[in-house]
Amino acid sequence: MNAQKRLEIFTRLRAENPEPRTELYWTTPFELLIAVLLSAQATDVGVNKATAKLYPVANTPESILALGVEGLKEYIKTIGLYNTKAENVIKTCRMLIELHDSEIPQTREALEALPGVGRKTANVVLNTAFGQPTMAVDTHIFRVSNRTRIAPGKNVLEVEHKLMRHVPKEFLVDAHHWLILHGRYTCVARKPRCGSCVIEDLCEYKDKVDL
Ligand code: SF4
Repeated sequence: MNAQKRLEIFTRLRAENPEPRTELYWTTPFELLIAVLLSAQATDVGVNKATAKLYPVANTPESILALGVEGLKEYIKTIGLYNTKAENVIKTCRMLIELHDSEIPQTREALEALPGVGRKTANVVLNTAFGQPTMAVDTHIFRVSNRTRIAPGKNVLEVEHKLMRHVPKEFLVDAHHWLILHGRYTCVARKPRCGSCVIEDLCEYKDKVDL
């Protein structure tokens, strides 16, 4: 795909949704970190339901640590993998208190050192809480990048690096939101909605449907 097409694609995605936001509920970087940590293999809606009950009771490292693993499980047991997630959240809270003055670190290395925090979670936090131009490549972004040929790659890291290289600078901070939303609602996994896609004429996918 050439640079002109990429520019046009992101111009249209931006026009559709000028200020894209994550669909996870959060008001502080700590709330965002915990919500993203809980969202692995779970839906944003499911996580939001759990945090809507948890955060009014505990939304700081100290208050969640005070709940303990068992106490925290009561709030998150509707979410997949909640046993492991509860343990990771409690360990993460302890590390934040002991090593970071209860603040969320703003570097990839420090974030990825927290239990349960991988590259994707670190990318989301750096981008969404701190405005850094990172690409948190999830299943939606991976699919859209490959189908459209914006940034084709065999694995998420390859796609991430290509997006960082090829997305025009002015769109870098918000690009991952636009791609996720496009994948979630239009370029869906089984049967993409090419007939109502705003970038259909620019997309290089060979098996378009619904036209
Ligand atoms: S035209 Fe179809 S395959 Fe291409 S981005 Fe749009 S929905 Fe996805």
